[in-house]
Amino acid sequence: MGRRKLVVGNWKMNGMRSHLAEVEAIGRIAAERPVVEVGLCVPATLIMAAAERKGGAFIGAQDCHMNASGAHTGCLSAQMLAEAGAEYIIVGHSERREAQGESDADVAAKAAAARAAGLKVILCVGESLDVRDAGNAEAVVSAQLLASLPEGAAADWLAIAYEPIWAIGTGRIPTMEAVASMHAALRAALASRIGADEAQKMRILYGGSMSGDNAADLMAIADVDGGLVGGASLTAEKFAPVIAAA
Ligand code: PGA
Repeated sequence: MGRRKLVVGNWKMNGMRSHLAEVEAIGRIAAERPVVEVGLCVPATLIMAAAERKGGAFIGAQDCHMNASGAHTGCLSAQMLAEAGAEYIIVGHSERREAQGESDADVAAKAAAARAAGLKVILCVGESLDVRDAGNAEAVVSAQLLASLPEGAAADWLAIAYEPIWAIGTGRIPTMEAVASMHAALRAALASRIGADEAQKMRILYGGSMSGDNAADLMAIADVDGGLVGGASLTAEKFAPVIAAA
């Protein structure tokens, strides 16, 4: 199928200038493994400095405003982030959907804004524990994906990250069967919107407590094309085995 694995660190609200040595070390590891596309989505304050030390990795952002400019105190546009050195951006992370009340339509608008600024996009979806326990996670997440998908979604600039909310930062992950089934369902949902050929090309990452202990098993699943990694991306020591597993 030829989908290049994509392994992306999400530093969330972590990282000061004193952590730039980790960016450099991860950039070196990425340069040694060009078969995998490796990146770090750092806090906006670190993008410029990280971009100078990225080595074989790319630097990304974690959110943007949906408008290109204007009276939005405290916000950053996709253009600003791209100019600072971001190549990718995460949109729709569950922490923003929950804490900032971002809707599916907001996420689609942010993805479109990022695309217009020349950024590549990682669009996050995932279910709560209640939804998982109720047994309809695949239907709920597929609907969330289709409602969050921007116009003109294509594999050369958009990747999906499936992140069960209850797996983020908890050390718990779904069974391999559940991950395989969800990723297949999401690819089928994509095919219904963008066509089977484009859906086959689009990368669908898994995220939520991915680490060196489980990355090889997760990324061996046919429809898992990489990972969005929080805690285990904060140091080169923890991130190296995840990159090696891809
Ligand atoms: P985690 O976070 O790897 O620390 O669970 C993943 C994410 O929220 O993207």
